[in-house]
Amino acid sequence: MPVVSDLPGRADVLVIGSGGAGLAAAWAAADTGADVVLVTKGSRASCNTGMAHGGIQAAVHPDDSPDRHARDVLDSSHGTADPELVSVLTSEAPEAIAWLESIGVEFSRDAGGYRLARCGGASIPRLLQVGDRTGHAIAKALRAELDRRGIAIHDHTALVGLERPNGHFEARLSQGGDERRLDAGAVVLAAGGRCYKEAHDAGILTTNQPGSTGEATTLARALGAEVRDYDALQHHPTGGAWPPPLQGFSIPETCRSYGATLRNAAGERFCDELAPRDTVAAAIVRECEEGRGLTTPDGRPAVHLDTTAIDPEIAGEVIPTMLRRYRAAGVDPLHEPIFTYPVLHYQNGGLRIDGHGRTTVAGLFAAGEISGGVHGRNRMMGNSLLDCVVFGRRAGRTAAA
Ligand SMILES: Cc1cc2nc3c(=O)[nH]c(=O)nc-3n(C[C@H](O)[C@H](O)[C@H](O)COP(=O)(O)OP(=O)(O)OC[C@H]3O[C@@H](n4cnc5c(N)ncnc54)[C@H](O)[C@@H]3O)c2cc1C
Repeated sequence: MPVVSDLPGRADVLVIGSGGAGLAAAWAAADTGADVVLVTKGSRASCNTGMAHGGIQAAVHPDDSPDRHARDVLDSSHGTADPELVSVLTSEAPEAIAWLESIGVEFSRDAGGYRLARCGGASIPRLLQVGDRTGHAIAKALRAELDRRGIAIHDHTALVGLERPNGHFEARLSQGGDERRLDAGAVVLAAGGRCYKEAHDAGILTTNQPGSTGEATTLARALGAEVRDYDALQHHPTGGAWPPPLQGFSIPETCRSYGATLRNAAGERFCDELAPRDTVAAAIVRECEEGRGLTTPDGRPAVHLDTTAIDPEIAGEVIPTMLRRYRAAGVDPLHEPIFTYPVLHYQNGGLRIDGHGRTTVAGLFAAGEISGGVHGRNRMMGNSLLDCVVFGRRAGRTAAA
């Protein structure tokens, strides 16, 4: 059972958000002996991390290396990512995987060891997976680890105000309509991105959960925290376009890793399906705008993702959730191509951080999707879960120190 306790009035480290970054930060801060409070505005399982199905990157293949991983990140970001942050991300990745395994995450394996997929922009197969529920497996293991250590997660507790008088933080927290105050020596913001709000305001589809609204960033900016690449929002190239229950669903990039191809109305391929995300998304949009696309039964632009090319022998292992979702909606992706179109997915930029998750405000830390620099203006798939684990732990540890 999860640990539940009353919200205390003070903490050494206050962590905001129960996604991968917040859970990892709370774990690391508590591991140094600090008194940690983790609050999250919805239920503890409500976060983008739990919905991440594709996988997590790490250079574990014998022909791979952290340097090669870093080159792929920098190339996919078109040179906009921060090389120092990228070096931290990729060099700590293999150890991050080992740590996740030590707390119970079981990555998929085949006869050759880890089952590795090649994701968009990668020069070698590097993506570890837990079926197609990698984020769920990671978040679940992290929550269990916090429970084991007696670190409480305060659900339905939203950060609504943050001030920094005399070198410490005063947080205003809204808990079921009641306002509470908490004093903290340091604060780790791991509140995710803002794509749900952006999509809602623009009337477009998004893969994100409703908690992705970005107010923690607004509070940090009011304290003087700098952001970078904040305007750079990422569209997932293959969003679900039809049938209606799958509109906004992020069709795992691993479908393309395992052979699915993009086809226009004439049935022709029109791009490298494993190019960086922005390149693939732009190719789909161009195909539709120039009249070579398809139209869904409800009139939306789309192209086909020919998922019938995926080997049925492995499909049940590598994309079980995706198959189940589509089949429940009356479409069998192994027998017919599916309609797809880019959908708002990820906040590439965010609060400026250094290699230890420090923002430009003393004592204020950030990790995960809320931060900027690790992915530049175009994130590679599989590096966000990694970012959460690597920078979440770093931010938590340094905040505690
Ligand atoms: C459908 C989908 C599939 C994806 N697939 C992959 C993948 O395969 N591989 C990969 O690497 N990445 C993937 N991503 C991206 C990745 O999952 C996320 O970017 C990452 O998990 C974000 O983690 P986080 O901890 O920063 O934020 P989140 O997991 O979004 O957690 C943020 C938390 O902060 C809380 N919060 C927000 N505001 C407040 C507030 N004011 N007060 C208190 N709490 C607050 C939220 O409720 C939530 O608990 C995917 C994303 C989606 C949506």
